[in-house]
Amino acid sequence: MPKEEKKQAPEGFEPSMFENVEPICLFDDLFYVGNRVVGIHILKTSEGLVLFEGTDNPDADEEILQPGLKKLGLQNEKILALMITHGHFDHYMGAAKIQGRTGCPVGMSLEDTAYLSWADENMGPDIPRELPRITRILKDGENLVYGDHCVYVMAAPGHTPGCLNFCFDVHDCGEIHHVVMMGGYGVFGPGNYPDGAYPYGVQWAVDQALLFASSCVKTWEYCKKNHCDVYMNPHPHLCELIEHAEQNRHRKEGEANAFVIGTEGVRQWISERFHVCIESAQKFTDIQVPGRN
Ligand SMILES: [Zn+2]
Repeated sequence: MPKEEKKQAPEGFEPSMFENVEPICLFDDLFYVGNRVVGIHILKTSEGLVLFEGTDNPDADEEILQPGLKKLGLQNEKILALMITHGHFDHYMGAAKIQGRTGCPVGMSLEDTAYLSWADENMGPDIPRELPRITRILKDGENLVYGDHCVYVMAAPGHTPGCLNFCFDVHDCGEIHHVVMMGGYGVFGPGNYPDGAYPYGVQWAVDQALLFASSCVKTWEYCKKNHCDVYMNPHPHLCELIEHAEQNRHRKEGEANAFVIGTEGVRQWISERFHVCIESAQKFTDIQVPGRN
């Protein structure tokens, strides 16, 4: 996210989107705490909790996680790990304090462990330099076992150089569902920074956009093969999380969980991301495809 988006509600975002929502039970073993823009997904395993993401709030532990766990009745569960999809401030800022209190391992890719400390978009004056200590380097293709659950780590670079997806199973009314949580959602480049201060140059932006498009293909190939039927993103507005939660509030016995969108639904989300990347690559350069512009 460009640094300009941190201080005030960015264009297209109502300030109310940054108010915390009531904790959400998505599945029997998956929960969400946070606001309508970013938050923490909580996977409940037989041995404790796995947290995904650290949000953009340095005090997320006190203000979001602890009260959220209490409302969900999960306050006595051990926190087994905190995994971060990528090294942007709005994903790791609350991680340091969660780690400080619980001592949980914090995982990220090797590339983004470096990226988070030098990325220009993490250097805003309002962004504290309180970085989590990355104690677990997450690698492409590894399966991490936590009690009765398993988290598959997939490298999906482009949004950042070491952006990750996480895939895991969840349960609902005795049925098993396969979740893909996509860490990235697009690529910033020249034109996305209002003051024209994009720091990395056109070549980097186009490379990253095309790399992320390729990661979308990789993600889809995995989802197709593994019949993923639930699509998640750390940003609720990028996976209709709040809307689906609202649908589930009126769910009657025997009705489907609104978060289960089927493999075709997953394909559509990934496809949308793919096209955003291709269009971005086009926009970032003045070399244009004939007949397209
Ligand atoms: Zn990001």
